[in-house]
Amino acid sequence: MLPKVPKVLVTDSVDLGLLKELKKYALLEIAPNISQEDLIERVRDADILVIRGRTQVTGDVIKAAGRLKAIVRAGTGIDNVDLEAALEKGIYVLNAAEASADSVAEFTVGLMIALARRIPFLNESMKKGSWLKDKGLGIELRGKTLGIVGLGRIGSRVARIAKAMGMKVLAYDPYVSRKKASELEVELVDLETLLRSSDFISLHVPLTKETWRLIGEREIQLMKPSAFLINTARGGIVDEEALERALKSGKLAGVALDVFQVEPPSLSKGLLDLDNVILTPHIGGFTREAQGRIAACIAEDIKRVIRGEEPLNCVRLPTKRWGSFAKKSSPNSVS
Ligand code: NAD
Repeated sequence: MLPKVPKVLVTDSVDLGLLKELKKYALLEIAPNISQEDLIERVRDADILVIRGRTQVTGDVIKAAGRLKAIVRAGTGIDNVDLEAALEKGIYVLNAAEASADSVAEFTVGLMIALARRIPFLNESMKKGSWLKDKGLGIELRGKTLGIVGLGRIGSRVARIAKAMGMKVLAYDPYVSRKKASELEVELVDLETLLRSSDFISLHVPLTKETWRLIGEREIQLMKPSAFLINTARGGIVDEEALERALKSGKLAGVALDVFQVEPPSLSKGLLDLDNVILTPHIGGFTREAQGRIAACIAEDIKRVIRGEEPLNCVRLPTKRWGSFAKKSSPNSVS
């Protein structure tokens, strides 16, 4: 039998405004540090599961879900969800992919400037009492070549900003049209050409079987020793050990990483000591504006699912669907 008040299980930390909104029409169960075993237990009677990047929605979790209608990623990327298993079971998989694209793009360009001008290193040394002007010689972005891997929502935005700053932009993305690239005034090239020619290389692909370790030892060897690499996409796309070796042997000018294969990562002291490495705790899309847009977008879609309507932000539609479980006469029905 369908429940009067749907149960929404939230297993990662999400925007407080979103929780307040969901409370109006759902029974909220909040378990931000839930273990995998516990998740399998508690998902059994959940109608909607809200996650971010930490929760792993594996095939076993989906198998245990007795009446789950939607898995909602409060953000972008669904690499932690077994998409095929969910769709097979008729469960919607939703996210808010557009909501944080501007934030990540701005942040990426910020990292490029921070690398080019050594801002974090100089800031830290001044706070320790040093005046290292002689170590502060930087480079301009104007006139340099930016190689964008993945010309989607974020990659396109980075391209627009880089063009406005006078950079030449190359992109590698086998799935975008020449028309889109030419509208962005970006030259589409193969990966090898991009790696060989770019002064800055920025990754904006999803994490898939195809992009897992897309940047490994061989690809790093192709880069100019003066090149900077920026990864604000997903950790597994870069082979972190190969990257560390390249940095220690001076094969790359610098790196900025916002994402890691395991988060939080256990980074070696050798890497932490390098002054040309910038590390941030997966905050590319973490701005007030993006979090507000994500909350509004997924709250609306959760309401739609509860009303039995098709949500607007499906990653892909399942072939079979659940029916509505909002009783029109229920005091908790959603308007
Ligand atoms: P998107 O789906 O809009 O764009 C991805 C692009 O990558 C597409 O154009 C696609 O054609 C291309 N692509 C796919 N496979 C490829 C391959 N093998 N080689 C080259 N190109 C390929 O995605 P988006 O919204 O722009 O997000 C990009 C990345 O940023 C994702 O990994 C996402 O998870 C990540 N992200 C990070 C943060 C953060 O806080 N750091 C926030 C949001 C998104």
